[in-house]
Amino acid sequence: MEKLIFNTVEKLLPEFEEVSTFIFEHPELGDEEYISSKYLVDKIKEHGFEVQYPYCGIETAFRAELKCGDGAKIAFLAEYDALPGYGENHDKNGHACGHNWIAALTYGACVSLSKLKDLFKGTIVFIGTPAEETVGAKCDMVDRGAFNDIDAVFQMHLGGINNLEPVALAMDSIEFSFEGVAAHAAAYPHLGVNALDAVQLTYAGINALRQHITPDARIHGIITNGGQAANIVPHKAQCRITIRAQKREYLDTLTQKVINCARGAELMTGAKLSYRNFENSFDDLVNNQNLRKLVEKNLIKAGITEFTKPNGSSGSSDIGNVSHVCPTFYCEIDATKGKEVFVHEEGFLEVANSDEAHDKLQKSIKALVLSAIEVAENPEILK
Ligand SMILES: [Zn+2]
Repeated sequence: MEKLIFNTVEKLLPEFEEVSTFIFEHPELGDEEYISSKYLVDKIKEHGFEVQYPYCGIETAFRAELKCGDGAKIAFLAEYDALPGYGENHDKNGHACGHNWIAALTYGACVSLSKLKDLFKGTIVFIGTPAEETVGAKCDMVDRGAFNDIDAVFQMHLGGINNLEPVALAMDSIEFSFEGVAAHAAAYPHLGVNALDAVQLTYAGINALRQHITPDARIHGIITNGGQAANIVPHKAQCRITIRAQKREYLDTLTQKVINCARGAELMTGAKLSYRNFENSFDDLVNNQNLRKLVEKNLIKAGITEFTKPNGSSGSSDIGNVSHVCPTFYCEIDATKGKEVFVHEEGFLEVANSDEAHDKLQKSIKALVLSAIEVAENPEILK
């Protein structure tokens, strides 16, 4: 059985590599992935999948489905958004997070399974999830019920190590706006209410708070408006702060403390505070341990045999939200060949569509296909 599965993947591999290359060569930013999403939709249709596109009210999201039997409904989540700021003049988009590889991986798993109907007795669902790097469309898709009927979710990401226990921090992104009163900064400063001071005091409050947070937590941000002219007391000022922690529960407490810093600044300066979430809130990733054991076993069969424990540093991903509503497996696969290069760096553009990435693509697809067949056959694994 394994031989048949591996042969099927190997035969289709040139097509999967072509998907990785096409998306790599058409880097589009989040929510603008029109070429990439249409390309994936057109291709999966050729393999007999029924497609909804757009999906969940998001123009570059899609869902493609193929029923092969009455077993589990298994979803593979594609991503295909790129990042800005690469090239000599830092003005080019690039797939420095390797989402081209994720698109090819999940597409490859779905197409391979569709050719193995004698072995796979469930429903294959290929879901296109845009804008992971920005708003995190998966959060909206969770809210709109995209995963309500799904039994298991699979996704993998390229990284610097083979890591089966990646951490994705829960994250809140808050914009604080202060409204004061403008005045001549030299002639009538006593008539002004300084909104920039309120932003600075918020920032100072956060700096004091940082000593008293757990080591997993992170608070970072920028000032997005600090006034218009040096000789006017700024009547409007604004900052954006991102707050992260390993667990949503602690993050909720921490975010409240950050908001309290801004409240204190409002009280101290008299500049009126308002705030809002400027991006979706991400939940922490909860990896389903049974799925993890299953994929680990199958990665080893496919030739990825060495795994490293995470070193602690980590970002956030909207797949966290999915993992709170549906059994989810997510891991990182190394394609760096020992080079010290990390996602989002210019150097990662050399990794994301390399021969090594293609080799790992083939092995990872094999592991996902083996795992999906086992889940469809034995849904007890998900309990
Ligand atoms: Zn990424």
